[in-house]
Amino acid sequence: MTKSKLKLYNTLTREKALFQPIDAENVRLYVCGPTVYDFAHIGNARPVIVFDVLYRLLKYIYGQDSVTYVRNITDVDDKINARALQTFGKEIASGTLSVNDAIREVTEKTAKQFFEDMASLGCEEPNHQPRATDNITEMVALIQKLLDKGHAYYAKGAGGGEILFHVRSMKNYGALSNRSLEDNKAGARIDVESHKEDAGDFVLWKTSDQAMPGWKAVFTFQNEDHEIYGRPGWHIECSAMSERYLGKTFDIHGGGIDLVFPHHENEIAQSCCAFDVPHMANYWLHNGFLQVEGEKMSKSLGNFITVYELLHEEKVGGEKWSGAVVRFAMLMSHYREPIDFSVKRLQEAENTLKRLQRRAQEGESAGSLEAFYESLMDDLNTSQAIHALNSLSGSILKQAMAFLGFPSEFEINDLDIGLIEEKINQRLIALEEKDWARADKIRDELLAQGIQLKDNKDPQTGKRVTSFEVK
Ligand code: AMP
Ligand code: ZN
Repeated sequence: MTKSKLKLYNTLTREKALFQPIDAENVRLYVCGPTVYDFAHIGNARPVIVFDVLYRLLKYIYGQDSVTYVRNITDVDDKINARALQTFGKEIASGTLSVNDAIREVTEKTAKQFFEDMASLGCEEPNHQPRATDNITEMVALIQKLLDKGHAYYAKGAGGGEILFHVRSMKNYGALSNRSLEDNKAGARIDVESHKEDAGDFVLWKTSDQAMPGWKAVFTFQNEDHEIYGRPGWHIECSAMSERYLGKTFDIHGGGIDLVFPHHENEIAQSCCAFDVPHMANYWLHNGFLQVEGEKMSKSLGNFITVYELLHEEKVGGEKWSGAVVRFAMLMSHYREPIDFSVKRLQEAENTLKRLQRRAQEGESAGSLEAFYESLMDDLNTSQAIHALNSLSGSILKQAMAFLGFPSEFEINDLDIGLIEEKINQRLIALEEKDWARADKIRDELLAQGIQLKDNKDPQTGKRVTSFEVK
Protein backbone atom coordinates (compact mmCIF):
# COMPACT_ATOMS: atom_id res chain seq x y z
CA MET A 1 0.00 0.00 0.00
CA THR A 2 1.00 3.65 -0.31
CA LYS A 3 1.25 4.18 3.44
CA SER A 4 4.83 5.32 3.71
CA LYS A 5 4.71 7.43 0.56
CA LEU A 6 3.43 10.70 1.94
CA LYS A 7 4.77 13.62 -0.05
CA LEU A 8 4.49 17.18 1.19
CA TYR A 9 5.31 20.53 -0.35
CA ASN A 10 7.83 22.21 1.91
CA THR A 11 7.91 26.03 1.83
CA LEU A 12 11.47 25.88 3.16
CA THR A 13 12.87 23.91 0.22
CA ARG A 14 10.20 24.99 -2.27
CA GLU A 15 9.64 21.45 -3.44
CA LYS A 16 7.48 18.44 -2.86
CA ALA A 17 9.41 15.74 -1.02
CA LEU A 18 8.89 12.45 0.71
CA PHE A 19 7.94 12.99 4.33
CA GLN A 20 10.28 11.34 6.79
CA PRO A 21 9.47 11.82 10.47
CA ILE A 22 12.15 12.24 13.10
CA ASP A 23 10.43 9.56 15.18
CA ALA A 24 7.75 7.43 13.50
CA GLU A 25 6.31 6.64 16.94
CA ASN A 26 5.76 10.29 17.74
CA VAL A 27 5.16 12.43 14.67
CA ARG A 28 4.96 16.04 15.77
CA LEU A 29 2.81 18.75 14.22
CA TYR A 30 2.44 22.40 15.27
CA VAL A 31 -0.06 24.81 13.75
CA CYS A 32 -0.44 28.50 14.62
CA GLY A 33 -3.86 28.98 16.13
CA PRO A 34 -6.27 31.88 16.44
CA THR A 35 -5.86 35.23 18.11
CA VAL A 36 -8.91 35.17 20.31
CA TYR A 37 -10.48 38.61 20.24
CA ASP A 38 -13.45 38.01 17.98
CA PHE A 39 -15.43 35.30 16.20
CA ALA A 40 -13.39 33.23 13.74
CA HIS A 41 -14.07 34.05 10.09
CA ILE A 42 -14.09 31.34 7.45
CA GLY A 43 -10.58 32.28 6.32
CA ASN A 44 -9.40 31.41 9.85
CA ALA A 45 -11.19 28.07 9.53
CA ARG A 46 -9.19 27.09 6.47
CA PRO A 47 -5.92 26.14 8.22
CA VAL A 48 -7.92 24.39 10.94
CA ILE A 49 -9.71 22.18 8.40
CA VAL A 50 -6.64 21.61 6.22
CA PHE A 51 -4.39 20.59 9.10
CA ASP A 52 -7.17 18.48 10.58
CA VAL A 53 -7.02 16.39 7.40
CA LEU A 54 -3.24 16.18 7.72
CA TYR A 55 -3.59 15.10 11.36
CA ARG A 56 -6.03 12.34 10.37
CA LEU A 57 -3.75 11.22 7.56
CA LEU A 58 -0.67 11.10 9.82
CA LYS A 59 -2.60 9.04 12.36
CA TYR A 60 -3.68 6.68 9.59
CA ILE A 61 -0.07 6.25 8.44
CA TYR A 62 1.78 6.13 11.76
CA GLY A 63 -0.92 4.93 14.17
CA GLN A 64 -3.66 6.62 16.19
CA ASP A 65 -1.39 7.21 19.18
CA SER A 66 1.73 8.11 17.26
CA VAL A 67 0.98 11.74 16.37
CA THR A 68 1.14 14.80 18.61
CA TYR A 69 -0.73 17.80 17.28
CA VAL A 70 -0.38 21.18 19.02
CA ARG A 71 -2.32 24.31 18.10
CA ASN A 72 -1.84 27.37 20.26
CA ILE A 73 -4.30 30.01 21.42
CA THR A 74 -2.95 33.54 21.15
CA ASP A 75 -4.54 35.27 24.10
CA VAL A 76 -2.14 38.17 24.43
CA ASP A 77 -2.22 40.71 21.63
CA ASP A 78 -2.90 44.41 21.24
CA LYS A 79 -6.13 43.66 19.32
CA ILE A 80 -7.35 41.76 22.38
CA ASN A 81 -6.46 44.68 24.66
CA ALA A 82 -8.41 47.05 22.45
CA ARG A 83 -11.43 44.72 22.48
CA ALA A 84 -11.32 44.35 26.26
CA LEU A 85 -11.15 48.13 26.75
CA GLN A 86 -14.02 48.61 24.32
CA THR A 87 -16.21 45.99 26.04
CA PHE A 88 -15.24 46.52 29.69
CA GLY A 89 -14.01 50.14 29.66
CA LYS A 90 -16.45 51.21 32.43
CA GLU A 91 -15.63 48.30 34.75
CA ILE A 92 -11.91 48.84 34.27
CA ALA A 93 -12.22 52.59 34.91
CA SER A 94 -14.27 52.05 38.07
CA GLY A 95 -11.83 49.43 39.33
CA THR A 96 -14.36 46.56 39.47
CA LEU A 97 -12.41 44.61 36.86
CA SER A 98 -8.66 44.52 36.33
CA VAL A 99 -7.23 44.80 32.82
CA ASN A 100 -5.94 41.21 32.99
CA ASP A 101 -9.36 39.92 34.12
CA ALA A 102 -11.19 41.86 31.41
CA ILE A 103 -8.84 40.34 28.87
CA ARG A 104 -9.42 36.88 30.26
CA GLU A 105 -13.21 37.42 29.87
CA VAL A 106 -12.76 38.31 26.21
CA THR A 107 -10.36 35.48 25.42
CA GLU A 108 -12.25 32.75 27.33
CA LYS A 109 -15.50 33.58 25.56
CA THR A 110 -13.85 33.81 22.16
CA ALA A 111 -11.83 30.61 22.60
CA LYS A 112 -14.98 28.72 23.66
CA GLN A 113 -16.78 29.92 20.54
CA PHE A 114 -13.76 28.95 18.42
CA PHE A 115 -13.81 25.38 19.83
CA GLU A 116 -17.55 25.10 19.12
CA ASP A 117 -17.21 26.45 15.59
CA MET A 118 -14.33 24.15 14.70
CA ALA A 119 -16.13 21.11 16.12
CA SER A 120 -19.14 21.99 13.94
CA LEU A 121 -16.80 21.94 10.95
CA GLY A 122 -15.89 18.34 11.75
CA CYS A 123 -12.41 19.10 13.11
CA GLU A 124 -10.88 16.91 15.78
CA GLU A 125 -9.28 18.56 18.76
CA PRO A 126 -5.50 18.76 18.72
CA ASN A 127 -3.69 16.90 21.53
CA HIS A 128 -2.68 20.20 23.14
CA GLN A 129 -4.13 23.71 22.81
CA PRO A 130 -1.86 25.78 25.02
CA ARG A 131 -2.59 29.42 25.76
CA ALA A 132 0.15 32.00 25.46
CA THR A 133 -0.65 33.44 28.88
CA ASP A 134 -0.05 30.04 30.49
CA ASN A 135 3.46 30.01 29.03
CA ILE A 136 4.87 33.35 30.12
CA THR A 137 7.59 31.71 32.27
CA GLU A 138 8.73 29.63 29.28
CA MET A 139 8.84 32.73 27.08
CA VAL A 140 10.85 34.71 29.62
CA ALA A 141 13.37 31.84 29.91
CA LEU A 142 13.67 31.67 26.13
CA ILE A 143 14.25 35.43 25.84
CA GLN A 144 16.94 35.15 28.51
CA LYS A 145 18.68 32.47 26.43
CA LEU A 146 18.66 34.81 23.43
CA LEU A 147 20.08 37.65 25.54
CA ASP A 148 22.81 35.35 26.91
CA LYS A 149 23.82 34.23 23.43
CA GLY A 150 23.99 37.74 22.00
CA HIS A 151 20.92 37.40 19.76
CA ALA A 152 18.82 39.91 21.68
CA TYR A 153 19.31 43.35 23.18
CA TYR A 154 17.48 45.86 25.30
CA ALA A 155 16.55 49.21 23.79
CA LYS A 156 14.71 52.22 25.10
CA GLY A 157 11.91 52.83 22.65
CA ALA A 158 8.68 54.77 22.59
CA GLY A 159 6.41 53.67 25.46
CA GLY A 160 9.20 52.21 27.60
CA GLY A 161 11.98 49.78 26.94
CA GLU A 162 11.82 46.61 24.91
CA ILE A 163 13.91 43.57 24.28
CA LEU A 164 14.48 42.99 20.60
CA PHE A 165 15.80 40.12 18.52
CA HIS A 166 18.79 41.17 16.48
CA VAL A 167 18.22 39.71 13.01
CA ARG A 168 21.77 40.36 11.85
CA SER A 169 23.08 38.04 14.56
CA MET A 170 21.58 35.09 12.70
CA LYS A 171 23.49 33.79 9.71
CA ASN A 172 20.67 32.66 7.45
CA TYR A 173 17.84 34.89 8.60
CA GLY A 174 15.22 35.09 5.85
CA ALA A 175 15.68 31.57 4.45
CA LEU A 176 12.03 30.58 4.75
CA SER A 177 10.58 33.65 3.10
CA ASN A 178 13.55 34.17 0.79
CA ARG A 179 14.03 37.73 1.96
CA SER A 180 17.32 39.45 2.59
CA LEU A 181 17.93 41.88 5.43
CA GLU A 182 18.07 44.61 2.80
CA ASP A 183 14.51 43.74 1.68
CA ASN A 184 13.35 44.29 5.23
CA LYS A 185 15.15 47.60 5.47
CA ALA A 186 13.47 48.89 2.32
CA GLY A 187 10.03 48.46 3.84
CA ALA A 188 10.80 49.72 7.33
CA ARG A 189 9.83 53.03 8.89
CA ILE A 190 13.25 54.00 10.17
CA ASP A 191 12.13 57.27 11.78
CA VAL A 192 9.71 55.59 14.22
CA GLU A 193 11.97 52.67 14.92
CA SER A 194 15.31 54.39 15.39
CA HIS A 195 15.92 52.53 18.66
CA LYS A 196 16.40 49.36 16.62
CA GLU A 197 19.86 48.33 15.53
CA ASP A 198 18.45 46.89 12.33
CA ALA A 199 15.14 47.69 10.70
CA GLY A 200 14.06 44.05 10.75
CA ASP A 201 14.68 43.58 14.49
CA PHE A 202 11.51 42.47 16.22
CA VAL A 203 10.09 42.65 19.72
CA LEU A 204 10.49 39.79 22.18
CA TRP A 205 9.27 41.62 25.30
CA LYS A 206 7.82 45.09 25.71
CA THR A 207 7.01 47.30 28.68
CA SER A 208 3.33 47.49 29.65
CA ASP A 209 1.63 50.45 31.25
CA GLN A 210 -1.36 50.09 33.58
CA ALA A 211 -3.85 49.88 30.71
CA MET A 212 -2.07 46.89 29.23
CA PRO A 213 -1.82 43.31 30.38
CA GLY A 214 1.51 42.64 31.96
CA TRP A 215 3.67 40.25 33.91
CA LYS A 216 6.64 40.93 36.13
CA ALA A 217 9.76 39.46 34.61
CA VAL A 218 13.41 39.73 35.48
CA PHE A 219 15.98 39.69 32.68
CA THR A 220 19.72 39.75 33.03
CA PHE A 221 21.62 41.89 30.57
CA GLN A 222 24.60 44.24 30.74
CA ASN A 223 25.65 42.20 33.81
CA GLU A 224 22.65 43.31 35.85
CA ASP A 225 19.16 42.09 36.66
CA HIS A 226 16.34 44.25 35.33
CA GLU A 227 12.70 43.86 36.19
CA ILE A 228 10.52 44.76 33.23
CA TYR A 229 6.78 44.68 33.81
CA GLY A 230 5.64 43.81 30.32
CA ARG A 231 4.20 41.41 27.79
CA PRO A 232 5.60 39.17 25.09
CA GLY A 233 5.92 40.13 21.43
CA TRP A 234 3.91 38.33 18.78
CA HIS A 235 6.29 35.55 17.73
CA ILE A 236 7.91 34.30 20.91
CA GLU A 237 4.91 32.29 22.13
CA CYS A 238 5.09 29.76 19.29
CA SER A 239 8.82 29.15 19.86
CA ALA A 240 8.19 28.62 23.58
CA MET A 241 5.10 26.42 23.24
CA SER A 242 6.36 24.27 20.39
CA GLU A 243 9.52 23.50 22.35
CA ARG A 244 7.53 22.75 25.49
CA TYR A 245 5.21 20.25 23.79
CA LEU A 246 7.18 19.03 20.79
CA GLY A 247 10.85 19.61 21.46
CA LYS A 248 13.55 21.77 19.92
CA THR A 249 13.12 20.35 16.41
CA PHE A 250 9.85 18.78 15.32
CA ASP A 251 8.39 17.47 12.07
CA ILE A 252 5.78 19.77 10.60
CA HIS A 253 4.87 23.40 11.20
CA GLY A 254 1.75 24.77 9.55
CA GLY A 255 -0.29 27.92 9.12
CA GLY A 256 -1.72 30.27 6.53
CA ILE A 257 0.56 31.60 3.79
CA ASP A 258 0.42 35.09 5.33
CA LEU A 259 2.38 33.77 8.31
CA VAL A 260 5.55 32.91 6.32
CA PHE A 261 6.85 36.41 6.89
CA PRO A 262 7.39 37.75 9.43
CA HIS A 263 5.80 35.31 11.90
CA HIS A 264 7.35 31.99 10.88
CA GLU A 265 10.63 33.53 9.84
CA ASN A 266 10.92 35.02 13.31
CA GLU A 267 9.84 31.82 15.06
CA ILE A 268 12.69 30.05 13.23
CA ALA A 269 15.17 32.76 14.23
CA GLN A 270 14.21 32.56 17.90
CA SER A 271 14.14 28.76 18.13
CA CYS A 272 17.27 28.04 16.10
CA CYS A 273 19.30 30.68 17.93
CA ALA A 274 18.05 29.85 21.43
CA PHE A 275 18.33 26.07 21.11
CA ASP A 276 21.33 25.85 18.75
CA VAL A 277 19.49 23.68 16.24
CA PRO A 278 19.68 23.93 12.43
CA HIS A 279 15.89 23.57 12.06
CA MET A 280 12.89 24.43 14.15
CA ALA A 281 10.68 22.18 12.00
CA ASN A 282 11.72 20.03 9.05
CA TYR A 283 8.62 20.65 6.92
CA TRP A 284 6.80 23.97 6.64
CA LEU A 285 3.29 23.81 5.19
CA HIS A 286 1.17 26.79 4.29
CA ASN A 287 -2.42 26.98 3.13
CA GLY A 288 -3.49 29.49 0.49
CA PHE A 289 -5.92 32.30 1.13
CA LEU A 290 -9.62 32.13 1.21
CA GLN A 291 -10.72 35.10 -0.85
CA VAL A 292 -13.82 37.12 -1.53
CA GLU A 293 -13.93 38.76 -4.93
CA GLY A 294 -10.18 38.38 -5.37
CA GLU A 295 -9.21 39.77 -1.96
CA LYS A 296 -8.06 37.90 1.14
CA MET A 297 -10.89 37.54 3.63
CA SER A 298 -9.78 39.42 6.73
CA LYS A 299 -11.05 41.44 9.62
CA SER A 300 -9.05 44.48 8.58
CA LEU A 301 -10.57 44.55 5.09
CA GLY A 302 -14.04 44.12 6.58
CA ASN A 303 -14.98 41.53 3.95
CA PHE A 304 -15.38 38.65 6.33
CA ILE A 305 -18.11 36.17 7.15
CA THR A 306 -17.84 34.45 10.51
CA VAL A 307 -18.20 30.70 10.83
CA TYR A 308 -21.01 31.37 13.32
CA GLU A 309 -22.99 33.47 10.82
CA LEU A 310 -22.59 30.85 8.15
CA LEU A 311 -23.84 28.03 10.38
CA HIS A 312 -26.47 29.75 12.51
CA GLU A 313 -27.78 32.75 10.61
CA GLU A 314 -29.33 33.11 7.21
CA LYS A 315 -26.86 35.74 6.06
CA VAL A 316 -25.15 33.91 3.23
CA GLY A 317 -27.41 33.11 0.28
CA GLY A 318 -30.42 33.32 2.64
CA GLU A 319 -29.58 29.94 4.18
CA LYS A 320 -27.97 28.33 7.17
CA TRP A 321 -25.26 25.96 5.99
CA SER A 322 -24.24 22.78 7.73
CA GLY A 323 -20.69 22.41 9.02
CA ALA A 324 -20.18 19.45 6.69
CA VAL A 325 -21.09 21.56 3.65
CA VAL A 326 -18.67 24.33 4.67
CA ARG A 327 -15.94 21.73 5.22
CA PHE A 328 -16.68 20.19 1.85
CA ALA A 329 -16.58 23.60 0.15
CA MET A 330 -13.15 24.12 1.66
CA LEU A 331 -11.69 20.71 0.75
CA MET A 332 -12.92 20.80 -2.84
CA SER A 333 -9.76 22.83 -3.55
CA HIS A 334 -6.17 21.80 -2.91
CA TYR A 335 -4.92 23.49 0.26
CA ARG A 336 -2.28 25.58 -1.47
CA GLU A 337 -4.70 27.00 -4.05
CA PRO A 338 -6.60 30.18 -3.29
CA ILE A 339 -10.32 29.65 -2.72
CA ASP A 340 -12.90 32.08 -3.95
CA PHE A 341 -15.66 31.75 -1.41
CA SER A 342 -19.17 32.12 -2.79
CA VAL A 343 -22.76 30.94 -2.39
CA LYS A 344 -22.32 29.06 -5.67
CA ARG A 345 -19.44 27.09 -4.14
CA LEU A 346 -21.54 26.24 -1.08
CA GLN A 347 -24.42 25.08 -3.26
CA GLU A 348 -22.09 22.94 -5.34
CA ALA A 349 -20.62 21.45 -2.16
CA GLU A 350 -24.08 20.75 -0.77
CA ASN A 351 -25.28 19.02 -3.93
CA THR A 352 -22.17 16.86 -4.27
CA LEU A 353 -22.14 15.98 -0.60
CA LYS A 354 -25.82 14.97 -0.64
CA ARG A 355 -25.29 12.86 -3.74
CA LEU A 356 -22.35 11.08 -2.08
CA GLN A 357 -24.25 10.61 1.16
CA ARG A 358 -27.14 9.04 -0.73
CA ARG A 359 -24.81 6.61 -2.48
CA ALA A 360 -23.08 5.77 0.78
CA GLN A 361 -26.44 4.97 2.37
CA GLU A 362 -28.07 3.09 -0.47
CA GLY A 363 -25.45 1.59 -2.69
CA GLU A 364 -23.82 -1.79 -2.50
CA SER A 365 -20.31 -1.55 -1.13
CA ALA A 366 -18.07 -1.16 -4.17
CA GLY A 367 -14.77 0.33 -5.28
CA SER A 368 -11.22 0.51 -3.97
CA LEU A 369 -9.73 3.11 -1.63
CA GLU A 370 -6.38 3.03 -3.42
CA ALA A 371 -6.90 6.16 -5.53
CA PHE A 372 -8.46 7.98 -2.59
CA TYR A 373 -5.48 7.48 -0.28
CA GLU A 374 -3.05 7.93 -3.17
CA SER A 375 -4.45 11.44 -3.72
CA LEU A 376 -4.12 12.38 -0.05
CA MET A 377 -0.57 11.02 0.03
CA ASP A 378 0.25 13.37 -2.83
CA ASP A 379 0.61 16.59 -0.84
CA LEU A 380 -2.86 16.30 0.66
CA ASN A 381 -4.72 16.54 -2.62
CA THR A 382 -8.23 16.63 -1.17
CA SER A 383 -9.69 17.89 -4.41
CA GLN A 384 -8.56 14.71 -6.17
CA ALA A 385 -9.51 12.55 -3.18
CA ILE A 386 -13.06 13.93 -3.35
CA HIS A 387 -13.07 13.15 -7.05
CA ALA A 388 -12.02 9.58 -6.24
CA LEU A 389 -15.13 9.24 -4.04
CA ASN A 390 -17.19 9.16 -7.24
CA SER A 391 -16.07 5.61 -7.96
CA LEU A 392 -17.06 4.34 -4.50
CA SER A 393 -20.39 3.37 -2.97
CA GLY A 394 -21.93 1.84 0.11
CA SER A 395 -19.89 1.15 3.21
CA ILE A 396 -16.55 1.73 1.48
CA LEU A 397 -17.71 5.21 0.52
CA LYS A 398 -18.88 5.76 4.12
CA GLN A 399 -15.40 4.85 5.31
CA ALA A 400 -13.71 7.29 2.94
CA MET A 401 -16.12 10.08 3.83
CA ALA A 402 -15.62 9.50 7.55
CA PHE A 403 -11.87 9.68 6.97
CA LEU A 404 -12.28 13.19 5.57
CA GLY A 405 -14.54 14.14 8.46
CA PHE A 406 -17.86 14.07 6.60
CA PRO A 407 -20.98 12.50 8.04
CA SER A 408 -22.36 9.89 5.68
CA GLU A 409 -25.96 10.77 6.50
CA PHE A 410 -27.11 14.22 5.73
CA GLU A 411 -28.73 16.39 8.29
CA ILE A 412 -31.76 18.24 7.14
CA ASN A 413 -31.99 21.61 8.71
CA ASP A 414 -35.11 23.65 9.48
CA LEU A 415 -34.92 25.45 6.21
CA ASP A 416 -34.87 22.20 4.25
CA ILE A 417 -37.92 21.00 6.14
CA GLY A 418 -39.76 24.22 5.29
CA LEU A 419 -38.97 23.80 1.61
CA ILE A 420 -40.01 20.14 1.61
CA GLU A 421 -43.33 20.98 3.25
CA GLU A 422 -43.94 23.67 0.69
CA LYS A 423 -43.30 21.15 -2.12
CA ILE A 424 -45.65 18.67 -0.46
CA ASN A 425 -48.37 21.32 -0.42
CA GLN A 426 -47.76 22.18 -4.07
CA ARG A 427 -48.09 18.50 -4.92
CA LEU A 428 -51.35 18.17 -2.96
CA ILE A 429 -52.74 21.11 -4.89
CA ALA A 430 -51.59 19.50 -8.17
CA LEU A 431 -53.30 16.26 -7.16
CA GLU A 432 -56.54 18.08 -6.33
CA GLU A 433 -56.37 19.74 -9.72
CA LYS A 434 -55.74 16.30 -11.24
CA ASP A 435 -52.49 17.58 -12.73
CA TRP A 436 -50.78 14.20 -12.37
CA ALA A 437 -47.75 15.17 -14.41
CA ARG A 438 -46.97 18.13 -12.14
CA ALA A 439 -47.56 16.06 -9.01
CA ASP A 440 -45.25 13.30 -10.21
CA LYS A 441 -42.59 15.82 -11.19
CA ILE A 442 -42.53 17.29 -7.68
CA ARG A 443 -42.39 13.79 -6.13
CA ASP A 444 -39.53 12.73 -8.43
CA GLU A 445 -37.55 15.90 -7.84
CA LEU A 446 -37.71 15.34 -4.10
CA LEU A 447 -36.74 11.70 -4.52
CA ALA A 448 -33.68 12.75 -6.49
CA GLN A 449 -32.66 14.75 -3.40
CA GLY A 450 -33.16 11.73 -1.17
CA ILE A 451 -36.60 12.74 0.12
CA GLN A 452 -39.23 10.01 -0.27
CA LEU A 453 -42.88 10.98 0.05
CA LYS A 454 -45.45 8.70 1.66
CA ASP A 455 -49.16 9.10 1.08
CA ASN A 456 -51.71 8.09 3.68
CA LYS A 457 -55.34 8.74 4.40
CA ASP A 458 -56.46 10.65 7.44
CA PRO A 459 -58.81 8.06 9.07
CA GLN A 460 -61.23 10.76 10.21
CA THR A 461 -61.54 13.00 7.18
CA GLY A 462 -60.46 10.46 4.55
CA LYS A 463 -58.20 13.17 3.11
CA ARG A 464 -54.76 12.45 1.73
CA VAL A 465 -51.89 13.31 4.09
CA THR A 466 -48.31 13.19 2.91
CA SER A 467 -45.29 12.63 5.08
CA PHE A 468 -41.65 12.26 4.07
CA GLU A 469 -38.64 10.18 4.86
CA VAL A 470 -34.98 10.92 4.23
CA LYS A 471 -33.31 8.12 2.30
P1 AMP B 1 -5.15 35.02 12.98
O1 AMP B 1 -6.22 34.76 13.98
O2 AMP B 1 -5.38 36.23 12.13
O3 AMP B 1 -3.77 34.98 13.59
O4 AMP B 1 -5.18 33.81 11.93
C1 AMP B 1 -5.28 32.46 12.31
C2 AMP B 1 -4.94 31.60 11.12
O5 AMP B 1 -5.84 31.84 10.03
C3 AMP B 1 -3.54 31.80 10.54
O6 AMP B 1 -2.98 30.54 10.21
C4 AMP B 1 -3.79 32.62 9.28
O7 AMP B 1 -2.79 32.42 8.33
C5 AMP B 1 -5.09 32.04 8.81
N1 AMP B 1 -5.87 32.94 7.93
C6 AMP B 1 -6.30 34.20 8.21
N2 AMP B 1 -7.01 34.71 7.18
C7 AMP B 1 -7.03 33.75 6.21
C8 AMP B 1 -7.62 33.67 4.90
N3 AMP B 1 -8.35 34.65 4.38
N4 AMP B 1 -7.44 32.52 4.19
C9 AMP B 1 -6.74 31.50 4.71
N5 AMP B 1 -6.15 31.50 5.93
C10 AMP B 1 -6.29 32.62 6.68
ZN1 ZN C 1 2.99 30.79 15.38
